[in-house]
Amino acid sequence: MKREGLIMIISAPSGAGKTTLCRQLMKRFPAMQESISYTTRQPRPGEVDGQDYCFVSRAEFERMVAEDAFAEWAEVHGNLYGTALKTLEEARRNGINLVLDIDCQGALKLKEHFEGGVYIFILPPSMEELRRRLENRSSDAQEVIERRIVRAAAEIKEARWYDYIIINDRFEQAFEELSAIVLSQSRKSFRMLEQVAKLFDI
Ligand code: 5GP
Repeated sequence: MKREGLIMIISAPSGAGKTTLCRQLMKRFPAMQESISYTTRQPRPGEVDGQDYCFVSRAEFERMVAEDAFAEWAEVHGNLYGTALKTLEEARRNGINLVLDIDCQGALKLKEHFEGGVYIFILPPSMEELRRRLENRSSDAQEVIERRIVRAAAEIKEARWYDYIIINDRFEQAFEELSAIVLSQSRKSFRMLEQVAKLFDI
């Protein structure tokens, strides 16, 4: 009997702290892996093909869409992003725990077509705090910040259909809450049966 992998889908408006939370989660739970998406966006300095994303041309991406190679895909900020069906199926089959950092449109498509994922939405404590965090990043132009805020207001409305909502006011608290979700999901009896069978020869 092979343990079924846990597939966790995490979405958040830009500035909610998702990247830091996910990075910390990988450290605390080394058995979790980040799903590597396909994207048509250009690599940023330091990003590695096949590690951060699989960087492909729009033509290649569209070919994969036509071949039904994606479990979900979406256009975000003018670029295409998608999760390969193969990535999810292999993870599930091999008992790999996977974290998907994807936007709300993609998460909704996945929820409609792919059974068994755990959906988590991370929120900032307020719109004022979100603005403050985006402005403090200072990497983005004011116009980009305004666009992100408008988008965030729309995305926050999507939080209601996720399984869990975490409000990232204090990082440590939010991280404990995220860890608690991972732990409780990993102790679901159907995920423990492989280990139990080995321990007790049943
Ligand atoms: P970035 O370009 O900053 O790495 O990501 C931009 C946005 O694309 C983020 O909100 C991220 O969650 C989303 N994203 C990354 N990979 C995927 C994917 O495979 N599918 C979907 N739907 N969104 C993705």
